[in-house]
Amino acid sequence: MSFSTIVNSSAPASFQSERPEKFMGTNFKRWQQKMLFYLTTLNLSRFLTEDSPSGGDAIDTQFNTTTEVSEDIQGSRVYYLSSMNLVPQRFIYRLKGNSIPTHGRRRLSTITFSLAAPKSGEEVLVVVGGGAAGIYGAIRAKTLAPNLKVVVIEKAKPLSKVKISGGGRCNVTNGHFPDNKILAEHYPRGHKEFRGSFFHTHGPMDTMSWFSDHGVALKVEEDGRVFPTSDSSSTIIDCLMSEAKRSGVPHLVLLQTGKVVTGASSTADGKFAVKLEKRSLDYVEHVEADYILIASGSSKQGYNLATQLGHSIVEPVPSLFTFKISDLKLAELSGVTFPKVKAKLQLEGIPKNIPQLTQVGPMLVTHWGLSGPVVLRLSAWGARYLSSSDYEGTLCVDFTPDLHIEDLKSALTRHKSQFLRQKVLNSYPSELAVVKRFWKYILDREGICRDTLWSSISNNSLSSVASLLKDCAFSVKGKGQFKDEFVTAGGVPLSEIYLDTMGSRIHSHLYFAGEVLNVDGITGGFNFQNAWTGGYIAGTSIGNLAGVAYNRVNHLVAIATIRARVQI
Ligand SMILES: Cc1cc2nc3c(=O)[nH]c(=O)nc-3n(C[C@H](O)[C@H](O)[C@H](O)COP(=O)(O)OP(=O)(O)OC[C@H]3O[C@@H](n4cnc5c(N)ncnc54)[C@H](O)[C@@H]3O)c2cc1C
Repeated sequence: MSFSTIVNSSAPASFQSERPEKFMGTNFKRWQQKMLFYLTTLNLSRFLTEDSPSGGDAIDTQFNTTTEVSEDIQGSRVYYLSSMNLVPQRFIYRLKGNSIPTHGRRRLSTITFSLAAPKSGEEVLVVVGGGAAGIYGAIRAKTLAPNLKVVVIEKAKPLSKVKISGGGRCNVTNGHFPDNKILAEHYPRGHKEFRGSFFHTHGPMDTMSWFSDHGVALKVEEDGRVFPTSDSSSTIIDCLMSEAKRSGVPHLVLLQTGKVVTGASSTADGKFAVKLEKRSLDYVEHVEADYILIASGSSKQGYNLATQLGHSIVEPVPSLFTFKISDLKLAELSGVTFPKVKAKLQLEGIPKNIPQLTQVGPMLVTHWGLSGPVVLRLSAWGARYLSSSDYEGTLCVDFTPDLHIEDLKSALTRHKSQFLRQKVLNSYPSELAVVKRFWKYILDREGICRDTLWSSISNNSLSSVASLLKDCAFSVKGKGQFKDEFVTAGGVPLSEIYLDTMGSRIHSHLYFAGEVLNVDGITGGFNFQNAWTGGYIAGTSIGNLAGVAYNRVNHLVAIATIRARVQI
């Protein structure tokens, strides 16, 4: 491609494919021309002087520098391109001072360009997002392909959700599901697709082994939730970060924080041009990558990147939340728990026979509604329906799921005959297994005066009480937030990726992992397990490919060296 055709192209220049040594000596001029093109694409050419073809008056090469230009010139769009630190070689391009606008403040005298020039056969993986999936995937890729340059771009703090997860304890995974098919059933989005190889490749036991092998002691609680024995999410963070930062350059995963990946497109040579920005500064950086792993969680920017690269997005909606119930008398019961209820969610316009909209398990009354495992599971399975119903519906609760209604009526009748002279408030059948405060609530809802004697209660009233206990309707008037865990349903559809590699079906060398996909689990460690598994599979696929590419190039270099020796 001639220089003039490149200049006319709107695609960003591709510097990473060039090796530094190519720019030494006579090739320097070519490099200068490419710089000019790059500046042109960034609209910076007006800063160049006219007395040299490249526009600059001096070119310096510096090795192992990490200089970052951070000039702040008001009213002028300035791009800072220096801080990727992808390669040891950096080229400082000095522009003529008098061509640079000063805007009454400091003068931009140097623009630093980072030429990501991988060594022979070295490829670059850019991981978007330093969450559970991104960091785990980066470590896996780097472990398999030590010569792969792995750069994780994190816009905020790495592993920030791990930090707050599980009430600060981090529920790493769930240890109760050796059967992957049963495990898959814990994913309202993903249950069909995860029946296959997904967890077989890296399931909860593998996750537990990984953390144990890396020095984290874990414990499995009665309900299957797995936590570090320290009961502190910092233990998990420290483990992942020290593994990612492990000393010894071949193992190092580069972590860049405070930058947002805002754009990605494919280049003519089948790579990716990745655009990074800093929100606080007028800062843009372009990086070329051989592989991209999008592990951006539920961030909108992550969805935008996926669409820029040709993917569709299933509309994101919240999952795992509590139900707001407008019932002042119920609110008085705040803190009351029910070890086992059967709850059914009814929503207008939704088919009545969706099995997952009926759940059995513990329930909790909060100061503004209902929570507990049963409600959270319903919120997850009903996430999409609830969103379209504007979070309004009816929750029908059976408070005695193990008792048939006729048995319940008999228990009430028996109790009446035994405690004729007692007030209804003061005693009730033990089979009900509810606290007195709740019994009071039931009497109030039935309009039975608390001082009434059991002898005065009609059989009809007893039937009504039994019916209410078996089918107590609550009006759902909105959603709350479950502070221990909260996820997003929606994202990149699983039909658009290969689950055995986590690779895109649309774009080769593009991978996804974690919550950015249309996957969400119920509470209990299932959401992190999705992140670990997806990250691990994506990291494995990329690491294997990069390893093969590196070996192939080295093989060719070896052949070339032998040939050269023969010629000498
Ligand atoms: C309060 C809370 C508690 C939870 N507790 C648990 C629990 O105990 N167990 C469990 O299994 N699950 C839990 N979850 C869910 C779990 O945290 C998520 O499912 C999991 O973190 C998803 O991992 P991820 O790597 O896909 O995404 P995230 O952890 O969200 O990581 C994505 C990262 O990408 C970054 N990012 C996004 N877009 C860009 C961009 N364009 N450029 C640069 N960076 C970007 C974000 O800043 C973020 O750090 C909890 C969630 C919450 C909110």
